[in-house]
Amino acid sequence: MGTADKSAERQILCSGCLGVFPESLITVIPYFNSDASEYVATYRCERCWVPSLEETRTRLASATNEAEITSVAVLFERHGVILHEFRRGDPTPVVRKRLGQMLDLLRSGVIRLAIGALPPLDAAAPDEEAGGT
Ligand SMILES: [Zn+2]
Repeated sequence: MGTADKSAERQILCSGCLGVFPESLITVIPYFNSDASEYVATYRCERCWVPSLEETRTRLASATNEAEITSVAVLFERHGVILHEFRRGDPTPVVRKRLGQMLDLLRSGVIRLAIGALPPLDAAAPDEEAGGT
């Protein structure tokens, strides 16, 4: 890989330190978004992702809100990581425990979430488009 490959990479803003990094240095992790009241996929640089993932782990470990816990399982599914216990409707505490184990796998690099393809911006924000007419 030459420098040309690096410059062709997408540049990603780290949600932790707000620095801009090539996509290959970014780790995708679930992180609680209080505005959305659910976990969302966020992008973190090499320095920020471990402490941020620890925050997610700590918060999830004591979570009792079913929708909040479910949002982690849905997020993993969107990235192609399927949790059988969630799929078959196991009780929330069981799902929460498994999700904690999945976060451990993320931490150790066994699970790696990709940013993947993004929808076009005009499709991603239909409400704002409609508001103008
Ligand atoms: Zn960062």
